[in-house]
Amino acid sequence: MSADCLFCKIIAGDIPAEFVAQTDRVVAFRDISPKAPVHVLVVPRTHVENVAQAAAQVPEELAEMAQVAQQIADAECDGQYRWIFNTGESAGQSVFHAHGHVVGGTPLGWEPA
Ligand code: 5GP
Ligand code: ZN
Repeated sequence: MSADCLFCKIIAGDIPAEFVAQTDRVVAFRDISPKAPVHVLVVPRTHVENVAQAAAQVPEELAEMAQVAQQIADAECDGQYRWIFNTGESAGQSVFHAHGHVVGGTPLGWEPA
C-alpha cells in the first residue's frame, strides 16, 4: 500500500470502483473514463510502479493479471482485446501503480489512442 496511490485506495475499498474481478493477487475494475465499450483496468494488489517492476518484483501477480485479462475478455468481448501498459508520462501513464488496460468490444485500429 502506497499512501498517496489512487489504485491502492481503490484496492483497499477507500475509493469506490466497479469491480469486475478480484483474486488473491489481482483486482480488476472498470475505467472511470472508458475509451471503448469494454475498458477494464487489471492491477496487481502489490504497489509497483509499472509492468517491468511487476515482472521483477511480483511475477506471479503479473502472470495472474494476464489470466484475469483473458477471462474478462472471454466474458465481455469474445476473447478479443488489446492489453495496454502505458509506461512513463510521455506514454500517457497518469497513475503510477502498474495496470493493464483491457480494451475491446469494437474493432481496434493500430494508431495510438
Ligand atoms: P494511465 O493513464 O495511467 O495509463 O491509466 C489510468 C487510467 O485510470 C485512466 O484511463 C483513467 O481514466 C483511469 N482512472 C483515473 N482515475 C480513476 C478512478 O478514480 N477510478 C477509475 N475506475 N478509473 C480511474
Ligand atoms: Zn498503489
